Amino acid sequence: MKKDGHTHTEFCPHGSGEDVEQFIQRAIALGFDEYSITEHNPLPKRFMDEAKGPSEAIVTGGMNVNDVETYLQKMQRLKQKYKSDIKINVGFEIDYLPGFENWTIDFLNEYGKLIDDSILSLHFQNGVGGFRSNDFSPEEFDAGLVQHYGSFQKAQENYFSVYLQMVESDLGSYKPKRMGHLTLCQKFQTYFEKEATNLSHTSLILIDNILDIVKEKGYELDFNTAGLFKKYCGETYPSSHVMDKVIEKGVTFVYGSDSHSLKDVGRGYDSFVGKCSRKSLTGTSRG
Ligand code: ZN
Ligand code: FE
Repeated sequence: MKKDGHTHTEFCPHGSGEDVEQFIQRAIALGFDEYSITEHNPLPKRFMDEAKGPSEAIVTGGMNVNDVETYLQKMQRLKQKYKSDIKINVGFEIDYLPGFENWTIDFLNEYGKLIDDSILSLHFQNGVGGFRSNDFSPEEFDAGLVQHYGSFQKAQENYFSVYLQMVESDLGSYKPKRMGHLTLCQKFQTYFEKEATNLSHTSLILIDNILDIVKEKGYELDFNTAGLFKKYCGETYPSSHVMDKVIEKGVTFVYGSDSHSLKDVGRGYDSFVGKCSRKSLTGTSRG
């Protein structure tokens, strides 16, 4: 079974705008059996009013609120159209926004029955002046978060502590079961040449706790290859070292290309295959 569990569409304001149907056709050509379409949910209006930093980082963060029904209808239509070639799951990449849990629960309750599969991710953290994006640009990561917390690693530790809160959060019965790009806070790591950016001792402890709760709750982890192709990252989310822990703890992980453009479909799948063979080796040595 070849599955892509994390992909985007033309409904994403920071995507390429290419038609999702082309993505699906590419996935079929690449031999995928299953394909989850997980567009960013619209961000709450109050959140957008309150968040700080470049407005582009905020307004392009999620799909337009008026597009949700159209999005779901189109994805359902394509799911039917291609059902003999590929199993399409329709859903969202839901943003975890601390303090907006009730809004998120309402959104999930409204559309939950139409959702097959979804992801829960952390793209915003509290920083200078309010919420700031952690994945928009290295300059914004620096100005909004590193400056606020005092160092790259302090911003990183805040990320993992909120991520832990996200995994533990009660978002109702439609809470996504897969946790998105665990180490997204490392996206701009090599931009910060003058300071330590490796996972701190505190972060490693938080990651350990996160993985235990993911396992305990029966959640899955997004093994997201997008970071491999980012200029200042160069590694998967989670990184290879963290993946050793994931495998050791027996946490389930699902490949995610995080495709925002047609050329992204299937990217880095070989590194997922590599991790899967490690997993089966571990299994053998234990058995
Ligand atoms: Zn995105
Ligand atoms: Fe994401």
